[in-house]
Amino acid sequence: MGRFLMPVQYKDYYEILGVPRTASDAEIKKAFRKLARQHHPDVAKNKKQAEEKFKEINEAYEVLGDPAKRKKYDDLGPNWNAGADFRPPPGWESFSGGRSYPGRGPRGEEFEFHFGGTGFSDFFEQLFGSMGGRGGAAGFGRRGSMDEEMATERGRDIEGDIMVTLEEAMRGSVRSVQVRHGVPCQHCGGTGQRAGHVCNVCGGSGQVAKTETYQVKIPAGVVEGQRLRVAGRGEVGAGGGAAGDLYLRVRLAKHPDFSVEDHNLLYEVELAPWEAVLGANISVPTLNGGVNIRIPAGTQAGQKLRVRGRGLPLREGGSGDLIVVTAVEVPSQVSEEERKLWEKLAKESSFNPRE
Ligand SMILES: [Zn+2]
Repeated sequence: MGRFLMPVQYKDYYEILGVPRTASDAEIKKAFRKLARQHHPDVAKNKKQAEEKFKEINEAYEVLGDPAKRKKYDDLGPNWNAGADFRPPPGWESFSGGRSYPGRGPRGEEFEFHFGGTGFSDFFEQLFGSMGGRGGAAGFGRRGSMDEEMATERGRDIEGDIMVTLEEAMRGSVRSVQVRHGVPCQHCGGTGQRAGHVCNVCGGSGQVAKTETYQVKIPAGVVEGQRLRVAGRGEVGAGGGAAGDLYLRVRLAKHPDFSVEDHNLLYEVELAPWEAVLGANISVPTLNGGVNIRIPAGTQAGQKLRVRGRGLPLREGGSGDLIVVTAVEVPSQVSEEERKLWEKLAKESSFNPRE
């Protein structure tokens, strides 16, 4: 049996972010930040709905906010999957959401795993996921060991990605993850035939889909790329062999306010020119409430101010820092009175930034 992939629904990331296809990087970032703030699960009334929306926005930004991914996406066009021709076995059509990648059944036949509740769409996974259906790394995600002589086979490991928000990385959480995979059809014993006819339960494929739901603990302090192991939740073994494990690879969701560098959180703060010159006490957000910081007099744009211990937690205890990166914004319009003051300042000042 050849490898098959289920057709997945095209995602219009431009539409999701509400920007034209010609949007600049800055426009895309701005649209993401606005939507991500609006739909952030921590502020929205309907948390479950907001979470879905937030993850969709995040996925769109992960693609459009990355020049290489955006180009790949643009090159595909909306008809990227038009050639796909695959009739899924009974029961597979109804499974929505999550990701998929080809695996191998107990008899060596290939099929797909599907994940739900991980925060990524099938579409994303097929194009950009670590196990992206086409050209997924060989052996990765279906690692198994077989001993021909003993005729027992350890079940293969299953690997998927899971989108984790910074709030989850901060506090930890428990997520419900669905894994759908093929199991031998009981009706025909996995042969696809019954009493000389094509099995009417599995349609002759010898397999039926089975969905299992696992509660996965996301510990506080997880980092990008970390693999969470769920022991014994991979594929079942053959001939009395042990089950494989389920691995979920952490991918931190983009946050509207913070970016992540190791365990540190970066936050860009806009200053008025006089705040930068004179210094100021201002409040900046963290992942758990605002914090007051002192902007020293004579602060330049791009300067970094460290707030110790307000970053992401470390597994071994303690926390990273919040790093506040300064930017100076100038008023785009001024009143007559303000203009006079700036003019006076221009005359008075001996400051020349080009000297
Ligand atoms: Zn059957």
